[in-house]
Amino acid sequence: MATSTADMRLSGGHPALDLANTVDSRRGRWGPDLLRSFEDLLVLVERLDLIDQQAASHLRRQAENDPQKAAAVLEDALALRESIYRLFRSEDAGESYPVADLSLVEDRARRGRAHQVLAATGAGYSWTLPFDDLSQLTQFFAIKAVELLIGRDRRRSVRECKGDNCGWLFIDHSKSGRRMWCSDASCGSHARIKRFRSRMKGV
Ligand SMILES: [Zn+2]
Repeated sequence: MATSTADMRLSGGHPALDLANTVDSRRGRWGPDLLRSFEDLLVLVERLDLIDQQAASHLRRQAENDPQKAAAVLEDALALRESIYRLFRSEDAGESYPVADLSLVEDRARRGRAHQVLAATGAGYSWTLPFDDLSQLTQFFAIKAVELLIGRDRRRSVRECKGDNCGWLFIDHSKSGRRMWCSDASCGSHARIKRFRSRMKGV
């Protein structure tokens, strides 16, 4: 079982969903929580390949020099994570997005947008966060969550894994569009074993 963002599966298909999935289980049994330090948050962004090494080292040094600020950023990231979870869980349930969660995500994204700079990216340019302040990690995930909301009419719905006790969110990028599990190797195979056992009992 995963113990932190360093060894968790990244199966959300989108960075905002991978942030929501930093709780190992969300139904019945809650946890363990895989996001317990600022370092965990930074490692997640690194594993998603969304920050360059120089900026990551810079933030790491900042967090070491100001542990209080790092703790405050972590707390805010956890609040954002829960809002993202509730927003996209309600999408899966066919309910409207909770207003309080929408405004939290909007607020953090707006702060992030104020820090974005125009950066050269391959052939063109794009708005990019320079990652020169710890709080930009949270703002970054908020911007990603907003992108997901804005693209609602051009993508498939976010789904919640149907595995027992799981609650992980994902976007199904598969051709068939019939993905049911956060991962075929974990929740998918548990469900297959369970089905097999109940069939055996029925004989
Ligand atoms: Zn699952």
